[in-house]
Amino acid sequence: MTEHPAQITDALPEHWPTAPAAEPVRPWWLPWPIAVLAAPLLWILPKRMGPHFAAVRWPGIIAAHLLWTLYGVACICLGVTAPQYSWIAWFGRESADIPAYAQMTFSQTARAPVAQVVWELCREASFGGGWGTPGFPEIGSVVDLLLWVAVVAGTEISLVIPALLLMPYIAAGERTRQLLIRSIKITLLSTTVVFPVSLVLQCAVIWINPSFDDGVSFTLVTALGCVWFCWVWIRAGMRYPGPAEGPGWEPRKALCENCGYSLTGQQVSGRCPECGRPVSYSLPSSRHPTPMAAARDRVAAVTAFLLTYLAVLVKGDFFKRIAVHAEFEASRRFAIWSSIVFVPLAILITVLCIRPTAEWEEITVNLPLGSSRELLESICMSAATWAFTTIGLLLILGGTVLACTWFGWKPIRPRAVVVFFWSVWLTPLYAAVCAATVIVMVMSRSDALARCVDLGRFGNIEWFILLAPVPFIILLVPTLLLSARRLLQGSRQTRFANA
Ligand SMILES: [Zn+2]
Repeated sequence: MTEHPAQITDALPEHWPTAPAAEPVRPWWLPWPIAVLAAPLLWILPKRMGPHFAAVRWPGIIAAHLLWTLYGVACICLGVTAPQYSWIAWFGRESADIPAYAQMTFSQTARAPVAQVVWELCREASFGGGWGTPGFPEIGSVVDLLLWVAVVAGTEISLVIPALLLMPYIAAGERTRQLLIRSIKITLLSTTVVFPVSLVLQCAVIWINPSFDDGVSFTLVTALGCVWFCWVWIRAGMRYPGPAEGPGWEPRKALCENCGYSLTGQQVSGRCPECGRPVSYSLPSSRHPTPMAAARDRVAAVTAFLLTYLAVLVKGDFFKRIAVHAEFEASRRFAIWSSIVFVPLAILITVLCIRPTAEWEEITVNLPLGSSRELLESICMSAATWAFTTIGLLLILGGTVLACTWFGWKPIRPRAVVVFFWSVWLTPLYAAVCAATVIVMVMSRSDALARCVDLGRFGNIEWFILLAPVPFIILLVPTLLLSARRLLQGSRQTRFANA
């Protein structure tokens, strides 16, 4: 057993005391038919049920995905084309004014979505008698059908992309291959929320639509569905089922944090034999938790979030002093919150930038004209946009982690910590784009810039066209370089981190 790092006074040990990356959960054995039937439990209790579902074997995962997801998609189609046969209409059949002969039974309602899809496909294929035989589909429509099947197959295969991008959010310390397999399994299971979402959509079609625009309620339901998917997905992956094997559980060697040279046997008061940096600089005790990880309750967490947000922007050595290996959960929470906060911040920045210009007048003059219905619709659309932007940012951050892992060093977890905290830099980047756009808008009204300049054999060109890229170059390029530099710096400063 090695000494606790705080008590090390003389020679450094070979390995630091192990602090496990994540405590593995012992998964229940779920036979596949039960996993298929129990999928609704995952929609409401993803964190509790996630590890047990992720340990189900492939046939169960695929069966649950195909059954719930495809049936859910069929329910969406039915809700759009013939809502009177949907589940929601069946539940409200007592109150509706339907003659007895037209009322659907339970089993008819259950079969209706599938029947409707098959009916649409048959119509698509127009079994009118190709090749001179009645009842045989025409060649053109067979191609259409095959195309349709190809689209479905392509959509299924493209689910690997969100699985890849969301992978860094559930990294427990296992090997990347195992992580990818678990990620794909959780993605296939999380898509089963399509079924409850389709029921919500049927509700929207039957009850809300008379007072609403089609597009608005569809967009809102889709946005809510995507948020629900992400919530189920990330929470289902939070606990790790499986053996404690992989880079997260390997003992960490005592390395120089500057150059990666092994410091085993070196005196605490000495210097690194390779680069000459004091050994005390590389002790785990020189790294501390961020305010975000140290916060104990929700009120403290808000202050801690703001402090961490500012620290990432202002402190150049932020990553040099954080205890990377213990920060994963805190950094994930931080990334999710900073993505949620991004849209209100972006609106604030836009308002601050546009206020001094004439466009502000136009926007504020047009605002109070709408009726209460239009106002409600625009609120719904803004909420949907907010949800989509937040999810988009989370996916971008996931992609950035993968890029950093690909170009740099192997384990995903420490890279994810750096990128998740670095996510703050998306706000200055947005502010630079916004400010540059406003400057260009002001420039476009200037008479002086509308004059032409003679460029010899290139012909005449307006000053405005020549000068329009300048604000972008002056504002965006330095911000982009600075944020990229901070990301690389963060990766370098955590590469050999001992804590
Ligand atoms: Zn060194």
